[in-house]
Amino acid sequence: MSDGKSLMVDTSRCTACRGCQVACKQWNGLPGTKTKQTGTYQNPPDMSHETFKVVRFAEGRGENGKPYWYFFSDMCRHCLAPGCMEGNQKNEIVQDEKTGAVIYTPATKKLDYKKVLAGCPYNIPRQDPKTKQLFKCTMCLDRQRANLIPACALSCPTGSIQFGERDEILKKVAARVAELKQTHAKAKALNPDDVRVIFIVTDDPERYHKYAEA
Ligand code: SF4
Ligand code: SF4
Ligand code: SF4
Repeated sequence: MSDGKSLMVDTSRCTACRGCQVACKQWNGLPGTKTKQTGTYQNPPDMSHETFKVVRFAEGRGENGKPYWYFFSDMCRHCLAPGCMEGNQKNEIVQDEKTGAVIYTPATKKLDYKKVLAGCPYNIPRQDPKTKQLFKCTMCLDRQRANLIPACALSCPTGSIQFGERDEILKKVAARVAELKQTHAKAKALNPDDVRVIFIVTDDPERYHKYAEA
């Protein structure tokens, strides 16, 4: 396989517009989720079998006492060696040769969901309670095969989400982290050597999301 594809998710550029979240639903034909207002803009509150991308909102106070409000457009990382595939028995989960996208087939309904979830350090796989099939982001493999970029990357108005060849994205990530480090000592990329969807943060990863970094 070539180096395949990657996405950069630069949280420092994210305005939490949630265009990516909506575009993901729209392209994948996923229904809206009934939710309640719980005092946060994070809505729906989590990923599910019908929500492959959620913009997470996190607020608190840093060491200096100043408040922070972080946005984290969460999705499957399309790991190079996916822990979720350890429960695989007969190719229920496959890795696309050309792009590296990790794809859950309809046969995932036969897998032990708890085992698949436990294998994922980023808490991504979700199960349809009715059919038992497992779901998550597809890296828009269907779009890629039609020479289109992933819907979330296309919809992002700030350039927070960018898509391309893995080697090019890795260069962009390194350049952006170096730039951010000039003003944010904690700026870093999360697990860039292990994943295809590489997040950039400017503070401790756990402040954004419990499962931000493996
Ligand atoms: S992030 Fe989780 S669900 Fe996605 S490929 Fe990696 S182990 Fe699998
Ligand atoms: S790559 Fe496609 S399926 Fe994955 S989060 Fe983006 S829009 Fe959704
Ligand atoms: S579309 Fe871009 S700016 Fe808007 S929430 Fe998603 S990542 Fe953030």
